[in-house]
Amino acid sequence: MSNPRILILGPPGAGKGTQSANIAEEYGVEHVTTGDALRANKDMDISDMDTEYDTPREYMEAGDLVPDAVVNAIVDEALNSADGFVLDGYPRNIEQAEELEGMTDLDVVLSLDVSREELVDRLTGRRVCDDCGANFHVEFSPPEEAGVCDECGGDLIQRDDDNEASVRNRLDVFDENTAPVIDHYEGHAGFVAIDGEQAPDGVWGDIRDAIEAETA
Ligand code: ADP
Ligand code: ADP
Ligand code: ZN
Repeated sequence: MSNPRILILGPPGAGKGTQSANIAEEYGVEHVTTGDALRANKDMDISDMDTEYDTPREYMEAGDLVPDAVVNAIVDEALNSADGFVLDGYPRNIEQAEELEGMTDLDVVLSLDVSREELVDRLTGRRVCDDCGANFHVEFSPPEEAGVCDECGGDLIQRDDDNEASVRNRLDVFDENTAPVIDHYEGHAGFVAIDGEQAPDGVWGDIRDAIEAETA
Protein backbone atom coordinates (compact mmCIF):
# COMPACT_ATOMS: atom_id res chain seq x y z
CA MET A 1 0.00 0.00 0.00
CA SER A 2 1.06 3.64 -0.23
CA ASN A 3 2.33 5.43 2.86
CA PRO A 4 0.01 5.01 5.84
CA ARG A 5 -2.43 7.70 6.99
CA ILE A 6 -2.26 7.65 10.79
CA LEU A 7 -4.20 9.60 13.41
CA ILE A 8 -2.76 9.78 16.95
CA LEU A 9 -5.18 10.76 19.74
CA GLY A 10 -4.67 11.41 23.44
CA PRO A 11 -4.71 14.12 26.10
CA PRO A 12 -2.11 16.91 26.31
CA GLY A 13 1.15 15.36 27.52
CA ALA A 14 0.26 11.80 26.49
CA GLY A 15 3.33 11.57 24.26
CA LYS A 16 1.75 12.29 20.85
CA GLY A 17 4.58 14.56 19.70
CA THR A 18 7.29 12.22 20.99
CA GLN A 19 5.78 9.16 19.29
CA SER A 20 4.83 11.04 16.10
CA ALA A 21 8.53 11.82 15.60
CA ASN A 22 9.27 8.06 15.78
CA ILE A 23 6.44 7.27 13.36
CA ALA A 24 7.53 9.94 10.86
CA GLU A 25 11.09 8.63 10.88
CA GLU A 26 10.22 4.93 10.67
CA TYR A 27 7.50 5.17 8.00
CA GLY A 28 8.65 8.20 6.01
CA VAL A 29 5.37 10.04 6.57
CA GLU A 30 4.84 13.71 7.34
CA HIS A 31 4.20 14.82 10.95
CA VAL A 32 1.20 17.15 10.70
CA THR A 33 0.66 18.91 14.02
CA THR A 34 -1.76 21.76 14.61
CA GLY A 35 0.02 22.79 17.83
CA ASP A 36 3.33 23.46 16.04
CA ALA A 37 1.58 25.09 13.07
CA LEU A 38 -0.31 27.45 15.40
CA ARG A 39 2.79 28.24 17.50
CA ALA A 40 4.57 29.27 14.29
CA ASN A 41 1.61 31.57 13.47
CA LYS A 42 0.60 32.79 16.92
CA ASP A 43 0.17 36.39 15.79
CA MET A 44 -1.56 35.82 12.46
CA ASP A 45 -4.59 38.04 11.93
CA ILE A 46 -7.74 35.91 12.21
CA SER A 47 -10.12 38.85 12.78
CA ASP A 48 -11.82 38.29 9.39
CA MET A 49 -13.05 34.91 10.70
CA ASP A 50 -15.39 36.56 13.16
CA THR A 51 -13.53 35.24 16.21
CA GLU A 52 -13.54 36.53 19.80
CA TYR A 53 -9.79 37.38 19.67
CA ASP A 54 -7.78 38.67 16.71
CA THR A 55 -4.89 36.16 16.90
CA PRO A 56 -4.40 32.53 18.06
CA ARG A 57 -2.11 33.69 20.89
CA GLU A 58 -4.85 34.60 23.40
CA TYR A 59 -6.55 31.22 23.05
CA MET A 60 -3.31 29.28 23.27
CA GLU A 61 -1.89 31.01 26.32
CA ALA A 62 -5.10 30.31 28.24
CA GLY A 63 -5.16 26.72 27.00
CA ASP A 64 -8.48 27.17 25.17
CA LEU A 65 -9.21 25.83 21.69
CA VAL A 66 -8.41 28.07 18.72
CA PRO A 67 -11.59 28.49 16.59
CA ASP A 68 -12.37 25.58 14.24
CA ALA A 69 -12.25 27.62 11.01
CA VAL A 70 -8.59 28.50 11.62
CA VAL A 71 -7.51 24.97 12.48
CA ASN A 72 -9.56 23.24 9.76
CA ALA A 73 -7.86 25.35 7.07
CA ILE A 74 -4.38 24.48 8.39
CA VAL A 75 -5.09 20.74 8.39
CA ASP A 76 -6.81 20.71 5.00
CA GLU A 77 -3.82 22.34 3.36
CA ALA A 78 -1.24 20.15 5.14
CA LEU A 79 -3.00 16.87 4.32
CA ASN A 80 -3.46 17.82 0.68
CA SER A 81 0.27 18.03 0.16
CA ALA A 82 1.27 14.96 2.26
CA ASP A 83 2.02 11.46 0.94
CA GLY A 84 1.14 9.59 4.12
CA PHE A 85 0.98 11.38 7.45
CA VAL A 86 0.74 11.14 11.21
CA LEU A 87 -1.83 13.70 12.33
CA ASP A 88 -1.29 14.99 15.90
CA GLY A 89 -3.40 17.52 17.84
CA TYR A 90 -6.48 17.36 15.60
CA PRO A 91 -9.41 16.71 15.77
CA ARG A 92 -10.04 18.15 19.24
CA ASN A 93 -13.84 18.30 19.10
CA ILE A 94 -16.63 16.50 17.26
CA GLU A 95 -17.05 19.27 14.67
CA GLN A 96 -13.37 18.93 13.71
CA ALA A 97 -13.77 15.14 13.51
CA GLU A 98 -16.64 15.58 11.07
CA GLU A 99 -14.56 18.03 9.04
CA LEU A 100 -11.67 15.53 8.90
CA GLU A 101 -13.97 12.84 7.52
CA GLY A 102 -14.53 15.03 4.46
CA MET A 103 -10.79 15.52 3.96
CA THR A 104 -9.26 12.02 4.05
CA ASP A 105 -9.60 8.34 4.97
CA LEU A 106 -7.49 6.96 7.85
CA ASP A 107 -5.63 3.61 7.92
CA VAL A 108 -4.72 3.57 11.64
CA VAL A 109 -6.17 5.43 14.65
CA LEU A 110 -3.97 5.25 17.76
CA SER A 111 -5.26 6.37 21.16
CA LEU A 112 -2.72 6.92 23.97
CA ASP A 113 -4.09 6.41 27.50
CA VAL A 114 -2.34 8.18 30.41
CA SER A 115 -3.62 9.11 33.89
CA ARG A 116 -4.21 12.74 34.84
CA GLU A 117 -1.53 12.97 37.57
CA GLU A 118 1.10 11.67 35.18
CA LEU A 119 -0.02 14.19 32.53
CA VAL A 120 0.48 17.14 34.88
CA ASP A 121 4.02 15.93 35.71
CA ARG A 122 4.87 15.41 32.06
CA LEU A 123 3.59 18.81 30.92
CA THR A 124 5.10 20.93 33.69
CA GLY A 125 8.52 19.24 33.16
CA ARG A 126 8.44 19.38 29.35
CA ARG A 127 11.18 21.28 27.51
CA VAL A 128 11.21 21.77 23.74
CA CYS A 129 13.96 22.76 21.33
CA ASP A 130 13.51 26.31 20.09
CA ASP A 131 15.12 25.37 16.75
CA CYS A 132 14.02 21.85 15.76
CA GLY A 133 11.05 21.22 18.10
CA ALA A 134 12.54 18.05 19.67
CA ASN A 135 10.90 17.07 22.98
CA PHE A 136 12.60 16.52 26.34
CA HIS A 137 11.61 16.23 29.98
CA VAL A 138 13.69 17.48 32.89
CA GLU A 139 13.24 14.19 34.75
CA PHE A 140 11.80 11.52 32.42
CA SER A 141 13.79 12.26 29.27
CA PRO A 142 16.60 14.70 30.11
CA PRO A 143 19.01 16.02 27.47
CA GLU A 144 22.70 15.11 27.82
CA GLU A 145 23.48 18.70 28.73
CA ALA A 146 20.86 20.73 30.64
CA GLY A 147 19.15 23.31 28.42
CA VAL A 148 20.77 22.08 25.17
CA CYS A 149 19.07 20.03 22.43
CA ASP A 150 20.67 16.61 21.80
CA GLU A 151 19.55 16.68 18.16
CA CYS A 152 20.74 20.09 16.99
CA GLY A 153 22.45 21.95 19.87
CA GLY A 154 19.58 24.51 20.03
CA ASP A 155 18.24 26.08 23.22
CA LEU A 156 15.59 24.19 25.21
CA ILE A 157 12.68 26.33 26.35
CA GLN A 158 9.49 25.88 28.35
CA ARG A 159 6.31 26.55 26.38
CA ASP A 160 4.22 29.54 27.58
CA ASP A 161 1.26 27.22 28.17
CA ASP A 162 3.15 24.55 30.14
CA ASN A 163 2.44 26.28 33.46
CA GLU A 164 0.21 24.69 36.08
CA ALA A 165 -2.88 26.92 35.48
CA SER A 166 -2.89 26.50 31.72
CA VAL A 167 -2.15 22.77 32.03
CA ARG A 168 -5.16 22.22 34.31
CA ASN A 169 -7.41 24.15 31.90
CA ARG A 170 -6.10 22.14 28.91
CA LEU A 171 -6.90 18.89 30.71
CA ASP A 172 -10.43 20.16 31.45
CA VAL A 173 -10.85 21.24 27.82
CA PHE A 174 -9.70 17.75 26.82
CA ASP A 175 -12.24 16.04 29.10
CA GLU A 176 -15.07 18.19 27.80
CA ASN A 177 -14.29 18.46 24.08
CA THR A 178 -11.77 15.83 23.04
CA ALA A 179 -12.66 12.75 25.12
CA PRO A 180 -15.90 12.43 23.07
CA VAL A 181 -13.75 12.42 19.90
CA ILE A 182 -11.92 9.33 21.17
CA ASP A 183 -15.26 7.61 21.88
CA HIS A 184 -16.31 8.55 18.35
CA TYR A 185 -13.29 6.75 16.81
CA GLU A 186 -13.50 3.62 18.98
CA GLY A 187 -15.49 1.69 16.39
CA HIS A 188 -13.41 3.00 13.46
CA ALA A 189 -11.43 0.51 11.33
CA GLY A 190 -7.79 0.50 12.45
CA PHE A 191 -8.52 1.83 15.98
CA VAL A 192 -5.98 0.64 18.59
CA ALA A 193 -5.77 1.75 22.26
CA ILE A 194 -2.17 2.02 23.50
CA ASP A 195 -0.99 2.04 27.14
CA GLY A 196 0.78 5.41 27.11
CA GLU A 197 1.83 5.21 30.76
CA GLN A 198 4.81 2.94 29.94
CA ALA A 199 8.33 4.25 29.33
CA PRO A 200 8.77 5.83 25.86
CA ASP A 201 10.41 2.73 24.31
CA GLY A 202 7.58 0.49 25.52
CA VAL A 203 4.97 2.82 24.05
CA TRP A 204 6.88 2.94 20.77
CA GLY A 205 7.07 -0.88 20.57
CA ASP A 206 3.29 -1.16 20.99
CA ILE A 207 2.68 1.56 18.40
CA ARG A 208 4.93 -0.12 15.84
CA ASP A 209 3.19 -3.46 16.39
CA ALA A 210 -0.21 -1.79 15.97
CA ILE A 211 0.76 -0.05 12.72
CA GLU A 212 2.24 -3.27 11.30
CA ALA A 213 -0.90 -5.21 12.21
CA GLU A 214 -3.33 -2.63 10.84
CA THR A 215 -1.51 -2.04 7.56
CA ALA A 216 -0.56 -5.68 6.83
P1 ADP B 1 1.89 15.56 23.65
O1 ADP B 1 2.40 15.86 22.26
O2 ADP B 1 0.88 14.45 23.66
O3 ADP B 1 1.40 16.78 24.36
P2 ADP B 1 4.71 15.10 24.34
O4 ADP B 1 5.18 14.08 23.35
O5 ADP B 1 5.11 16.50 24.12
O6 ADP B 1 3.11 14.97 24.51
O7 ADP B 1 5.20 14.62 25.78
C1 ADP B 1 4.96 15.42 26.94
C2 ADP B 1 6.18 15.37 27.86
O8 ADP B 1 6.29 14.05 28.42
C3 ADP B 1 7.52 15.64 27.16
O9 ADP B 1 8.33 16.34 28.09
C4 ADP B 1 8.08 14.25 26.87
O10 ADP B 1 9.49 14.26 26.87
C5 ADP B 1 7.53 13.43 28.03
N1 ADP B 1 7.18 12.05 27.65
C6 ADP B 1 6.72 11.61 26.45
N2 ADP B 1 6.47 10.28 26.50
C7 ADP B 1 6.76 9.87 27.76
C8 ADP B 1 6.71 8.60 28.45
N3 ADP B 1 6.28 7.51 27.82
N4 ADP B 1 7.08 8.58 29.74
C9 ADP B 1 7.51 9.71 30.37
N5 ADP B 1 7.59 10.93 29.80
C10 ADP B 1 7.22 11.01 28.50
P1 ADP C 1 -0.27 19.57 23.67
O1 ADP C 1 1.11 19.21 23.20
O2 ADP C 1 -0.28 20.04 25.07
O3 ADP C 1 -1.27 18.50 23.34
P2 ADP C 1 -0.68 21.24 21.35
O4 ADP C 1 0.71 21.64 21.02
O5 ADP C 1 -1.30 20.16 20.53
O6 ADP C 1 -0.73 20.87 22.89
O7 ADP C 1 -1.65 22.49 21.30
C1 ADP C 1 -1.34 23.70 21.96
C2 ADP C 1 -2.51 24.67 21.85
O8 ADP C 1 -2.79 24.95 20.47
C3 ADP C 1 -3.83 24.13 22.39
O9 ADP C 1 -3.95 24.35 23.79
C4 ADP C 1 -4.84 25.00 21.60
O10 ADP C 1 -4.91 26.31 22.10
C5 ADP C 1 -4.19 25.06 20.23
N1 ADP C 1 -4.62 23.95 19.35
C6 ADP C 1 -3.84 22.94 18.86
N2 ADP C 1 -4.56 22.10 18.10
C7 ADP C 1 -5.83 22.59 18.08
C8 ADP C 1 -7.05 22.16 17.48
N3 ADP C 1 -7.11 21.04 16.74
N4 ADP C 1 -8.16 22.91 17.70
C9 ADP C 1 -8.13 24.03 18.43
N5 ADP C 1 -7.00 24.48 19.04
C10 ADP C 1 -5.87 23.78 18.87
ZN1 ZN D 1 16.93 20.87 18.40
